[in-house]
Parts: sequence; C-alpha cells; structure tokens
Amino acid sequence: MSKPRIQAAVAAGYAAAKGAKGGKNADYIPFLASVPSDLLGVCVVTTDGCIFKSGDSDHAFAIESISKVFTLALVMETIGVEAVREKIGADPTGLPFNSVLALELHQGKPLSPLVNAGAIATASLVPGSDSEARWAAILECQRRFAGHPIALSPEVNDSEQATNFHNRAIGWLLYSAGSCFCDPLCAVDIYTRQCSTLITTVDLAVMGATLAAGGVNPLTGERVVADVHTAPILAEMMMEGLYTASGDWAYTVGLPGKSGVGGGIVAVVPGQMAIAAFSPPLDEAGNSVRGQVAVATIARELGCNLFSRG
Ligand code: GLU
Repeated sequence: MSKPRIQAAVAAGYAAAKGAKGGKNADYIPFLASVPSDLLGVCVVTTDGCIFKSGDSDHAFAIESISKVFTLALVMETIGVEAVREKIGADPTGLPFNSVLALELHQGKPLSPLVNAGAIATASLVPGSDSEARWAAILECQRRFAGHPIALSPEVNDSEQATNFHNRAIGWLLYSAGSCFCDPLCAVDIYTRQCSTLITTVDLAVMGATLAAGGVNPLTGERVVADVHTAPILAEMMMEGLYTASGDWAYTVGLPGKSGVGGGIVAVVPGQMAIAAFSPPLDEAGNSVRGQVAVATIARELGCNLFSRG
C-alpha cells in the first residue's frame, strides 16, 4: 500500500473524528475526568515500520483496559495458548467489562482475558515470586511492545487504587472459585498498576503493529511474542475488545481491536498495520467516540475489513 494513500487515510480519519460530537470522559476514576476532552491523536504504524500520524498523537494518556492485551501476551508466552483458554477462556461475556455476573453464570470461569475478571485472573498468572517481580515483568512486556521504556503514572495509579473496590470484590470472587492464581489483592494491585501506565497514540500503534507483524516490533526488530500466539490474541480482541459493542465493531469495521476508558483505541490489520487513536470522551459502552470514528474511517479508506474481499 502506498505511503500517500495511508497518509491521506490518516488525514481523512482525523478530519472525520474532529467533526464527531458526543460522549463524556470516564469519571469513575477521578484522574480521567480531568483530562482535556478536546485532545485527538491518530496514528498508523505499518509492519515495515513507517509511522503516519496526525493531531495530538504524542500526548501521553492512561493505557487502561488496552493493557489487558499485553498482559495476556505475556501470560500466553508463559503458560501457553491452551492453558489460557482452559483457565480463562475465549468467549465474549455479553456483559459490561466489570460485571461479576459472568463469573456466577460460568462456575467462576471469567470467559475472556479482556474483561476485568479475566484480566485480574490473567494478572494472577504473570510469572514472579512477589508483586514487584510480577510488576517488573509487566512493565518489561509493555516496553518490548512499545519499543521504549513505559512508566507508571503515580497520579493515575493513586486515583485508581483509591477507587478500585469493585475490582477487589472481583478478585475475591475469582479466588473463591479457584480462578485467581495468587493472592487476590496482589492480582488486583498488579492489574490496577498495569492500567495506570502512560502511552501515546504512536506507542499504541507500534504496540498494535507488533501484533500485526506476527509478534516482532517493527521499529526495534525485537521479537516480543511468538508468532503462533498472535492469532489467538487477535481472536480475543475480536470477541471482546470493544466492551459490549465488540459485535457491532466486528460487523461494521471487521478488525480485531481494543479500547480503554482512557480514550485509547487500536485496531490490528494482520500482516499490514495497526490503526490507533486517542480521544477521551466515551460512548455508553465505554469506547472513545471520536477514536472509533477515526479508526473506522481509516480502515474503510484503506479497505481493511478482514471479512471483505476489498
Ligand atoms: N482500570 C480500569 C478498571 O478496571 C480499566 C477499565 C477499562 O479501561 O476498561 O476499572
């Protein structure tokens, strides 16, 4: 695909998103409510390492739920694809991201590593003898995906740790069902920290492009995840990456994606590129309003729907 074509698609995605209205910053985590709502970043990174960006694409924001993808990759590398499916699952819950109902309905099995229950269970499987060792492994994993060191925001983390009572309850429910594989409060602490790192839209596109490139970071050339693990990770993203709107996203855009309540969103075009955007106001499902418009527009302009012959 030619560079001018991708650059034009990024410009079209940015313009379409700029004109989109509506949504509201997440406010259940106090820090997120304070982020300027008019920020908008868009970026495409190709599997051969070219970067196309527009707007506030170098502004750092909280990774939030998108971190679930990278911790899943880390745990898949550690225990293997089948163990992840057996212990956590690979099905959509059809319920809000922080629901406890899926646990109740499925004998304590979280179903998806991309909702909170499954992500806390996944965090409990991160290798390490204590919290700090597990945390170091997560930061190192995010670093390898982004291609440079990623840091925790103490401000975001403090804000999350002071308000994560619901997630602590999920941790204990998992534990009582045998689905939390370390001390539940340690798992929730690690999960909360992994949501509290800062990335830019460019970082997010590089992280997605690493999955698009079969697990090799296209900027650093470093292998981050085994090639055989990228397809199941993308399958999980297709099933549950955009909260309760994942089906609508598959239907209309046709790409595996992941969003977070910090306003970030990424979609992966296997073998070709990742398309990322950031804009804080969210819709009812918890997905960035303008981020979805930007990514969907770029994907459509470039004919990237996986279910279409183009
Ligand atoms: N730390 C957030 C939580 O668990 C992440 C939410 C999200 O982005 O979906 O509440």
